[in-house]
Amino acid sequence: MAENKRDYYEVLGVEKGASAEEIKKAYRKSAMKYHPDRNPGDKTAEEKFKELGEAYEVLSDDEKRSRYDQFGHAGVDPNFGAGGGGYGGGFGGFGGFGDFGDIFGDIFGGGRSRQAQRNAPMRGENVGIRLELTFEEAAFGTEKEVNVQRIENCGSCNGTGSADGVIETCSQCRGAGQVRTTQNFMGMAVQSTTTCPACGGRGKMVKNPCNTCRGKGKVRRTQKIKVKVPAGVDAGQSIRVRGEGCVGSNGGPSGDVLAEVYIRRHPIFRRENMDVLCEVPITFTQAALGSVIEVPTLEGKRSFDLPEGTQTGREFTIAGVGIPQVGNPKRRGNQRFTVVVETPTRLTREQRELLEKLEKTLDGKTNPKRKKFFDTIKDFFE
Ligand SMILES: [Zn+2]
Ligand SMILES: [Zn+2]
Repeated sequence: MAENKRDYYEVLGVEKGASAEEIKKAYRKSAMKYHPDRNPGDKTAEEKFKELGEAYEVLSDDEKRSRYDQFGHAGVDPNFGAGGGGYGGGFGGFGGFGDFGDIFGDIFGGGRSRQAQRNAPMRGENVGIRLELTFEEAAFGTEKEVNVQRIENCGSCNGTGSADGVIETCSQCRGAGQVRTTQNFMGMAVQSTTTCPACGGRGKMVKNPCNTCRGKGKVRRTQKIKVKVPAGVDAGQSIRVRGEGCVGSNGGPSGDVLAEVYIRRHPIFRRENMDVLCEVPITFTQAALGSVIEVPTLEGKRSFDLPEGTQTGREFTIAGVGIPQVGNPKRRGNQRFTVVVETPTRLTREQRELLEKLEKTLDGKTNPKRKKFFDTIKDFFE
């Protein structure tokens, strides 16, 4: 690649020992000749112009120039990478239009593409909102009305910006949105294209600006919109409401509303993906004897046959009454519940006597875990 490069001095048409002033002069002269504005669509001119820029960037910089003088293209070309005799990391690569883009930008009114886009249709911005839901709303889905702050077309002028509907083609640019100006650049007349200062690039002029929007055609408003919440949506997910964001420009489409879901705490239920979790307190006699208990689910109370000898902390599952899957509500998660044995408190004299009687009968058969524990301790200490 670099081998095919022409010598930078040759590109600029100067001697090796040329002064900074000579280099600048030579560059200016050739850059005028090959500037894309003067040679629209001419590929050769464009290439020449790039080559000039590259040569000038190096030769106008004392440090780069001395590296170039010592090592040639390898001294300044980032493609030569670490090879360049220890200069590997040092020199910030030059992307053809690097620094030189800056010095040139002002003069030739750079950023032509940006100006061109001014007239182009642009999509409106998205609006993010926070959507607070109850546990049940998230589980079963709902429709919520929410306030959205967005940019809309001004209602008074229909988005035209004109109070009386009179919109004229800009006289300065004749509707093009751009004007050609002749500027004096270091003693030379240079033609360049810039955004029309009269119409700001819109190509149109409003005689009597609308009072409501001061001629902008757009206003910020708070609007109520409806958000359809699908069943099963989870915290942190975003619901997209198409076309309810800010209005677009020049006929572009509106942006969207992105509603991020927050779910309020439920007094009983928690959620783990599609499963609903809760704790169910039971008495220790229920735990010991077994019992039919009532378990709260999203579908109301369900009876559950608790087996005898249930230990505290054990988790049971009732299948298919959990959270529906988003987009496929027939598929549902489960209800998982953990039983917690509640030790009785504030016993009556009678209850106490019954329990004391019971305690005397408990042994290694009724409480094998306890027995094993104390057997281990005995082994351990003796
Ligand atoms: Zn208006
Ligand atoms: Zn104009």
